[in-house]
Amino acid sequence: MKIVKLDINYLSPPPAIKYCKKCGKKAEHICSELFRVNAQRKYLDIWLIYKCSDCDSTWNMTIYSRVNPKSISPEILDGFHNNNGELVRKYAMDTVLIRRNGAEVGLPKYEILGPAIDFTIPVELHIKSPYPSQLKVSALLREILNLSKDALEQMMVSETIRSTGGLDLKKSKMQTEVIVNIDN
Ligand SMILES: [Zn+2]
Repeated sequence: MKIVKLDINYLSPPPAIKYCKKCGKKAEHICSELFRVNAQRKYLDIWLIYKCSDCDSTWNMTIYSRVNPKSISPEILDGFHNNNGELVRKYAMDTVLIRRNGAEVGLPKYEILGPAIDFTIPVELHIKSPYPSQLKVSALLREILNLSKDALEQMMVSETIRSTGGLDLKKSKMQTEVIVNIDN
């Protein structure tokens, strides 16, 4: 069986979906890739700033609340002050943090990187993602294999395509790695 490796490259952090007061509805909030650091007496508050995609209203996602500045290393603190890109990505892609802040995690923009696949032979497909995301594995497989929803479902039912890790391919969302076998 030929092993084919594909990588999901996210082109943007996932939007945070939450209620926007100004819009009066749930809206996607886009990461501004800027931190806000506020020093109050002996404590620091640190947020990552998001903007409503409809009205530009700001939403601050809490990273640290009333934390002792000495508990954060000077380099990391510098990173917060200078909007260090790596630090932004670390928090913008932390789906647990986004949920803990009361927002839902939206779909990031992405591209699929890897070789063209010859599906006339049995293939073991390794799909890697730098972090778990809201992308549905079935949607990715349809895109990779260029299949209709029905055609993919038929392949799942007949087990022509199946997960090696016992994942429900129809329902699962993207983990850091998903491996599927495809027969022909
Ligand atoms: Zn809004």
